Amino acid sequence: MKVEPTVKGLRAAVNIAKKDKKFVGFVPTMGNLHAGHITLVKEAKARCDFVVVSIFVNPTQFGEGEDFDSYPRTLNADLDKLMDAGADVVFTPEVADMYPNYPQQTVVTVGDIANQLCGLNRPGHFDGVATVVSKLLGMVKPDVAFFGQKDYQQLAVIRQVVADLAIDSDIVGIPTVRADDGLALSSRNGYLSEDERKKAVLLSKCLKKVGGYLLQGDKDYAKLEKAASKFLTESGFEVDYIRIKTPELNEPTAEDTKWVVLAAAKMGKPRLIDNMTFGQ
Ligand code: AMP
Repeated sequence: MKVEPTVKGLRAAVNIAKKDKKFVGFVPTMGNLHAGHITLVKEAKARCDFVVVSIFVNPTQFGEGEDFDSYPRTLNADLDKLMDAGADVVFTPEVADMYPNYPQQTVVTVGDIANQLCGLNRPGHFDGVATVVSKLLGMVKPDVAFFGQKDYQQLAVIRQVVADLAIDSDIVGIPTVRADDGLALSSRNGYLSEDERKKAVLLSKCLKKVGGYLLQGDKDYAKLEKAASKFLTESGFEVDYIRIKTPELNEPTAEDTKWVVLAAAKMGKPRLIDNMTFGQ
């Protein structure tokens, strides 16, 4: 496994792999790797000949007052895990390598799909994600890039960007990896106290419960959202949103038979997000 801190080194390593006709997979991350990230890497390894993983905490997707400075950075432990998972190249740029001109004159701005859910309380977040992912895809030029369904809206935004900008990489979404009690794994779970960690599981339980009602035929979406929000608030969460959407992130109607329930809520310091898909 090669660790490449520079864009030049990364491009050279990928070019050699491509000359050897290797099918290139890519997993972008912000590090502090857990079993969710490693599942993405293993899936990439299973489907591709050559796997690039990036570790980069991207400043442009963090808003003011968010946790950019304190975001957990655990490079040595991450590299050990990636070695075990079979990554071929780990790209570990500094901010100055990714953004030689900062702030950039060119940014990727995403429309309606970004201006809802997490986009409402995190203005500019998805433009930051879209811009850095576009750059990373331009640097690695992977045949396939892997993203977690845990960040459902992010995955939808990236699919949109790749389609709109004609980026020549397939995008694959990987199901959310959860702890035994159902909490979606996240680097930000490390901020939870013992007591908060116990309560945090109620987020996934609540999504499941809403899904149960949907599957029973309850289509009063606004009522379900309101009841779920009340439950989470009473359980100690500071709710950002809990919404029922179509899988394409449109507003559902009475005709819909497949839904995604998405939520974002703070439990103590960390803002947790989760989602589940129901129906067919
Ligand atoms: P992050 O480091 O948080 O930016 O995440 C890097 C990638 O890992 C993104 O595509 C995430 O959606 C994905 N990911 C994060 N948590 C999980 C999880 N629990 N299960 C599956 N994928 C995940």
